[in-house]
Amino acid sequence: MTRHRTDRILTTMGITLWERRAEPSPCGFQEATSGWQRLMHDVAQCTRCPLHKGRTQTVFGVGPQGAAWCFVGEAPGAEEDRQGQPFVGRAGGLLGAMLRALSLSREEVFIANVLKCRPPANRDPEPLEVESCLPFLSEQLAYVGPRVIVALGRFAAQSLLATDEPLSRLRGRVHDYHGMPLVVTYHPAYLLRRPADKAAAWADLKRAREALAS
Ligand code: SF4
Repeated sequence: MTRHRTDRILTTMGITLWERRAEPSPCGFQEATSGWQRLMHDVAQCTRCPLHKGRTQTVFGVGPQGAAWCFVGEAPGAEEDRQGQPFVGRAGGLLGAMLRALSLSREEVFIANVLKCRPPANRDPEPLEVESCLPFLSEQLAYVGPRVIVALGRFAAQSLLATDEPLSRLRGRVHDYHGMPLVVTYHPAYLLRRPADKAAAWADLKRAREALAS
């Protein structure tokens, strides 16, 4: 993703880009830290909402900048909070299987959640928490600039699309997220409980693949 395109996407999102600069070096030069590093630092230090009090660590997300695919879930669970990685455990295993079905590896896609800190007892995110944390995800997506975004589950879909439409109405079509195609499917944790819906999820993923190719 070029810096110009990142800036343009951030501007359409209403996000003002700024970069913290390092202390002057002994020889008088100042070196800019990258926006991505600054974002990682800001997430790690964040106390914008009360969830920071109960976290073991923030879960920033994993994957390369410039990934063609971005998968976005809801929030870290207990294992994610422990490991600092999104989608580990059984739901992560199923996401891995979904990626393999698309001939993708986990290493080549970007994976993140709407919330970077675990809600207590894995309860649903609250509106204030989503409002506080969503700008981080927006910036991540602007930096990565994927060719398609897959929203995993109702919370990710409703948060990214700023809607309260039910999942049933959000699935089945390609949405526009600041110029990037976005497809909605079920969260892997849901599919573990309702394996009968895996066929519908596969149809969603094929829709995402078509959107990426078009
Ligand atoms: S959930 Fe997001 S906004 Fe809340 S403390 Fe964690 S990083 Fe900050």
